[in-house]
Parts: sequence; C-alpha cells; structure tokens
Amino acid sequence: MCGIVGYIGEQEAYPILIKGLHRLEYRGYDSAGVSLINPKGKLSVYKATGKVSALEEKCAAEDLSGTIGIAHTRWATHGEPNAVNAHPHLSGSGNLSLVHNGIIENYKSLRSMLEKKGMSFCSDTDTEVLVQLIEYTQQTYHCDVYTAVQRALKSVVGAYAIALLEKAHPDQLICARKGSPLVIGVGTDARGGKEFYVGSDATPIIEYTNQVVYLKDEEIALMDRKGGLEVVNLSNIKQTPEMHTLQLSLDELEKGGYPHFMLKEIWEQPNALRTCIRGRLQVKDKDVLLSGIQDHKEKFLNARRIIICACGTSWHSALIGKYFIEEAAQIPVEVEYASEFRYRNPVIYPDDVVIAVSQSGETADTLAAIQLAEQKGAFLYGICNVIGSSIARATHSGTYLHVGPEIGVASTKAFTGQVITLCLLGLAIAKEKHTLSDEMFHMLVEELQRIPDKMQWTLEHNKHIDQFAQMFTYCRNFLFLGRGYNYPLALEGALKLKEISYIHAEGYPAAEMKHGPIALVDEEMPVVFIAPKRGMYEKVVSNIQEIKSRKGKIISVVTEGDKTVRNMSDYTFVIPDTRDCFVPLLAVIPLQLLSYYVAVAKGRNVDQPRNLAKSVTVE
Ligand code: GLU
Repeated sequence: MCGIVGYIGEQEAYPILIKGLHRLEYRGYDSAGVSLINPKGKLSVYKATGKVSALEEKCAAEDLSGTIGIAHTRWATHGEPNAVNAHPHLSGSGNLSLVHNGIIENYKSLRSMLEKKGMSFCSDTDTEVLVQLIEYTQQTYHCDVYTAVQRALKSVVGAYAIALLEKAHPDQLICARKGSPLVIGVGTDARGGKEFYVGSDATPIIEYTNQVVYLKDEEIALMDRKGGLEVVNLSNIKQTPEMHTLQLSLDELEKGGYPHFMLKEIWEQPNALRTCIRGRLQVKDKDVLLSGIQDHKEKFLNARRIIICACGTSWHSALIGKYFIEEAAQIPVEVEYASEFRYRNPVIYPDDVVIAVSQSGETADTLAAIQLAEQKGAFLYGICNVIGSSIARATHSGTYLHVGPEIGVASTKAFTGQVITLCLLGLAIAKEKHTLSDEMFHMLVEELQRIPDKMQWTLEHNKHIDQFAQMFTYCRNFLFLGRGYNYPLALEGALKLKEISYIHAEGYPAAEMKHGPIALVDEEMPVVFIAPKRGMYEKVVSNIQEIKSRKGKIISVVTEGDKTVRNMSDYTFVIPDTRDCFVPLLAVIPLQLLSYYVAVAKGRNVDQPRNLAKSVTVE
C-alpha cells in the first residue's frame, strides 16, 4: 500500500526520489525515508514521521549527493508509524538498505530464527526481518547480494515489492516483487547511456521515460550501470523483460487510470479483501486466526455483551456485524451511534466488550465513546484501517483492515473491509465458544474465501450501470429496501447516493415500508430492492409487488439466474449466489456503482462531495 521510488543513472538521485514520493503520497503517508550512496561510497539514510515534506525539512542541511538511491512513503502494517519503523531499513552491518511494500506473514518465525543466530533488530517491522534475512543469507552462503535476495525470498511467505541498495556495490540497484506492484522505467541519460527508475506505479516514472517493464511475481531485477537490466526468477532462471510503452498521462496515473479515486477503490475491493483475510482465514486448517482475539480470548468468552460504536458507513457495517456475531457466536450485540452513546450515560458493565469501528481511526465521537467505556471498565477493541491511529492506540486490542489508503470521501473498500473483518471476528469467537457445528464453520470459512472472486465477478457483470445511470438524474428521491442482512445494506446504499449525488434517499427494512414510506411511492419514485434468492426471498417478492401496484420504478439486486424478480423489475443487477450473511459484500457493489454513475451523470465532485470530510475529527 506504500510508495517505493528508486533511481540509478547519471543524474542526482535525491530530487527524482523526492518528487516521486510526492506523486506516490496518496498510497501512504505516515512516514517517509530516503537512502543514497554518495560519490565517496557513503550510504546514508534519512527518515521522518508524517508527510514527505517533513522528510524534506529533515534533509535540508544534509549531504544529498549521489546518483543512486531508494525512497519510501509508508502505510504502516507492522509497528507504529514512527521514525524508527519508517523505511529504508538497514541490515546489521549497515551494508544493505531496503524499502518494502507489503506484509511478510512469517516475519515472526524468521525474526526468532535470526535472533537465535545473534542478529538484533531495532524496529517492530516485518521489513527489517527481510533485510536482515538477506544479509544473513549473503554471509552464510558467501554469495553476492543478488543471489542472496533470490535465496532469502524463497523462505518468505507474504507479499512484497522491494528495492535494495548495497554500499559495497554502488553501481547496482536490485528490486523484486510478489503480490505488490513494481514498475521499472528505462530511460536514456544525457550521454546516451541507460538509466533506471523504480516505482510502485508509473507515477514517479512517466515524466522521465515512457518505456517500462512491469516486474512479474517472483521476479528479481538487477539494474547495473554497465550491464543494464537483468531479470531472473526465484529459481535463478533468466527472464526476458517485456518492454511496454506507457500511454497514460500523469494525471490519470495518479488515479491508476480511473477518473476518480472512488471508482478505483470500488474496483480495488477484491484485492483489498484478499489482503484483509490473508493469513487470517486458514481454509486448509479450517481456522480463523485473529491475533487481537487470541491474545484476549477470555474477554470474548466471558463477554456479557458486545457494544459496537461507530458513525456513518461504519455504523452500517457494524449493524451487519451485529447480525453475524449474534447468529454465529451467540453473544448479544448492540450497535450505537458514537455521538449519541457518549452523551447519554449508557449502562456499561466491566464484562462488556466495546468495539470501535472507524476507517481513519480518528473519528472524534467514536474516540470519545470508547474513552467513556474505558472509564466504566469495559474491554476495548478497535477495527480501523489506519495503523497507529488514535483509536488503534486507545483500544486494548484490535484488528486492522489492511485494505490500503481510502482517498475517496465516500467509503467503499473500507466498508467491505469492515464487514469482512467483523465476520472474521464472529467466526473466531464462534470457534472458541463452539457455537457453530464444525460443518457450518467450515462451510462459512470456505465461502468467505470465495468472496473476493465473487466480488470480481459482480464488478464485471455490473460495469454497464454507467449506460443507464443518466436516467435517474432527474429523481428527487430514492428508496432502498432490504430484509435481514440486507437491511443495513439498504441504509448504506441510500447513504452512498445521498453523499455523492445529493439526491435524497432513505433505507428501510423492506417490511417497514408499509408503516409510512409507502406513502411516498408514485410513478416517479425509484425503489431499490436487495432481493437475493435466499432467506426471506418470498417475503421480499411480496414487498416488490406492493410497490409495483403503486407504480414505483423497481430496481433490483438479484441472484444470478433469478427470473421472478427480474420480470417484476424495471432494472436488474445480478450477483452470484452466496450465503445470506455474505450477500452484503456482493450486493453493495451495484449500489456503489449506481451512486457513482448517477453522481457523475449529475456532474458532482465525486471524490470531494460538498460539506463532507474524509475523516470526521470534530464532534
Ligand atoms: N509491512 C511494512 C511496514 O509495516 C510495509 C508497509 C507498507 O507497505 O508501507 O513497515
């Protein structure tokens, strides 16, 4: 999720690296660092917490000469976002300097192996383990660093994109990838020689060259001032680098080619969720591992209640979480608006578990709500996306979403990340409490594993929404209806539309509409039904009938192959079949796309809707 930049050539590296970091800053911005080898062969590392500008200030008085260097803007996953944990990380001897994007899943076992061999660590990151492992391999096998990288990476489980400098070889830059992106730009210097640029994406490269090589998984690249570019795979078999010509403009690239961050983040969801469940959902072992729960098992086993405090979209994911945790783990769950909870002297017992859900981890009301709960002795658990955020620090334990920085103000991938995390949490507690049969537990674990692929399918089958979104731009109101797990989703669908298109929308439990909202229905009113062929299907069909008789326009989200609801609807979106509890993870996709395309058709500023802020740090 972070940004990597690298350069080797004839030019001064530092200005290229800093400019590149600024371009990548959207990918992560909790700390930044740079490493250079100067003409005398001295390797230096400078790091700062906060934005790239803080790094620049820190570097202002330093010797920044050198025509080879690497740099990083971090989005912390392991260890607080502070200067020690910031990248680049040095090996024990100070000969190697490395930047990394991704997560080394087996870093704990690698670290203890290296500690037994006498190596010491100064940071809490998984990244430092990698650079130490490479050095250890180099020393053990007396090989060059390029070979050591190949050997070391064979024992690494997880995702990585890395760039590496070796003090002893200032003419070589090495990089490698698996699971995290890395692009190499090939340029020509003033003297007609080759120069190389490395980037997490092409953003820092495009202004120098449009010739790029997209490094493939398990490939390692050596960029040598004299020898040029060489690529091998983990088995040391030479690969032929494929050169591509970039077609995109700089502006487009910053959004990865998408017109808005929101659309990019909608499409990122399958991969974001894969990262979120990686290492946690153990399908082979039929297990769910959440360290935040394992370390505090007793608190969850003895919990009288769970209270989830949240605001906005997080409140909707919390409601889905309530339905799932109650069903799977048989613990009563209450979902509270943090802003209400904090001011109404709520009853909180010391054996309550209070969960705070917040993308940024900085939501002022949610933070205040858990501070209140702490005074009353409850156990606090945080579900946040931003590492080291205030809520993550204020809670006793928690789980990070790991869905990457969310920039669009209307939350999309953080919502699905929260829902899947709450499902993992429900499953982890259910396993401990034996509230689900083994068969049911395994079935849920297996199905959850399939969700990212099913999400991809849903995205592909609903791209066409852009073609008819125009038709809804005249609408002044929308109604979103669903039952069971899809009632909170109806609320989320309505919120999404309101936030970015400014069309008034309301979400209701489908059966509740007879108690009031049905009075609003006329031939102008679009009513969105979430109607999968599951659970209360027949009941929802009757609700659709009721709206149809009053001439409302029916838009439905249905299971692939469904004919009944499709025939009753004016517009239909399909999703693959899944268990009731996971339907929101798929059905939310067409709702996000609908809101997005209606807002675009209305000419709204989708990424920065009026009056809203990404993280609500005031009450
Ligand atoms: N896992 C590494 C860390 O926490 C890299 C995170 C990133 O991709 O920025 O430092």
